[in-house]
Amino acid sequence: MNLLIVEDEARLADALRQIVTAEKYRADVVYNGRDGLDYALAGDYDAVILDVMLPGLDGFSVAKQLRANKLATPVLMLTARDELADKITGLDCGADDYMTKPFAPEELLARLRALTRRQGEVVLSELSFADISLALGDNVLRRGDKTVRLGFKEREIMKILMSGGDHITPKETLISKVWGDESEAVDNTVEAHISFLRKKLIFLRADTRIETVRKLGYRLEAHA
Ligand code: CA
Repeated sequence: MNLLIVEDEARLADALRQIVTAEKYRADVVYNGRDGLDYALAGDYDAVILDVMLPGLDGFSVAKQLRANKLATPVLMLTARDELADKITGLDCGADDYMTKPFAPEELLARLRALTRRQGEVVLSELSFADISLALGDNVLRRGDKTVRLGFKEREIMKILMSGGDHITPKETLISKVWGDESEAVDNTVEAHISFLRKKLIFLRADTRIETVRKLGYRLEAHA
């Protein structure tokens, strides 16, 4: 685990570093908010331990700017005991968890583990069904070594079908989720996109097919 510690009290910063390095984690330590922000944005950290009261830029502002820069790194905020208002402000500005000083080393480590685990679960970069997988980041449908690029609406349809596994997805569900309730999309539009997707599955030589379930909708099936 690679951590960033932002704490202006040198003795506490040192104690934090000792606690985490004893667990064989790596840690960079900085002593003010401005450096904290720069390091967090430039580095590749699994979590940031961020004190609230810091010279210059305070911890709330740092957290807010990290989120404004679309940085998803979990933030654990530290502040003085019993400051409920701080806790609420901290969570409002994008912190993921909160810990009051003083704290036991075990509590810090448990919270870091929970935070980094939670992040791992949120990052869902790929869906799979039978022999195909869909990379959500770059809109690519894959079977073995073969890949094919999907259009935006094709990807959305595939995402819904793959999330549903072998359950039937009604055509109306596809229309409302992919085109929106207000849209003019009609059955033919959906059928056209399903037809494109079927051709792409054939191109991939996939076992997976999109079956039409008469009057009900669509479902994925694997024909080995
Ligand atoms: Ca402080």
